[in-house]
Amino acid sequence: MVEKLEELQKTALKNNIPIIQKDGLEFIQNYIKENSVSRVLEIGSAVGYSAIAFALTKNDIKITTLERDKDRYNEALNNIKRFNLDNQITIYNIDAFDYEDSRKYDLIFIDAAKAQYIKFFEKFKRNLNKNGAIITDNLSFHGLVDHPENTNNRNTKQLVRKIQKYIEFLNENKEFETKFYEIGDKISISILKNKEAK
Ligand code: SAH
Ligand code: MG
Repeated sequence: MVEKLEELQKTALKNNIPIIQKDGLEFIQNYIKENSVSRVLEIGSAVGYSAIAFALTKNDIKITTLERDKDRYNEALNNIKRFNLDNQITIYNIDAFDYEDSRKYDLIFIDAAKAQYIKFFEKFKRNLNKNGAIITDNLSFHGLVDHPENTNNRNTKQLVRKIQKYIEFLNENKEFETKFYEIGDKISISILKNKEAK
């Protein structure tokens, strides 16, 4: 039986899985269609919701997605099979920092541990095609990045500072040009500045 994406979304939300918001997802799906994206590398699969949604945009797109949590990986694997997308999506149960890959991707989607965003970006930028983009999710962190005074939780405050550092890092980056979009939980798109040099 072919599943419906809305059902997967509902189940994930019910189980408190931090899946991408609907408008953020649609924005990336449009990016995929408009930019003829055919290879995607996703850091942070959770239960496979975003990877499945990307795969459903067109049948010649291939997704590689990484998830370190064993239970989420198993659930994602199961979901991918239920959607009959195992020919389009490859998922690895691995910590992204242990993952080695020399292939190039048209889109790299960073959606894993927020405290590590700069490290993910630095590690995976070498896997980007010269005309590709690195998209990052959750740059607003539920509004807390603009209003850190709204939390007293020390861990949350630390995470918010890390996201602010990542935004600074993107703004000051010599290699990449980044645009920010107030869509979903705020998304960025980073593209190479000097495409000739790569
Ligand atoms: N992209 C998914 C949501 C991902 S939630 C969607 O929108 O449907 C973030 C996931 O990243 C979590 O499941 C977490 O276990 C995973 N994660 C965090 N740090 C990671 C790392 N270093 N390597 C691999 N996965 C990681
Ligand atoms: Mg996210």
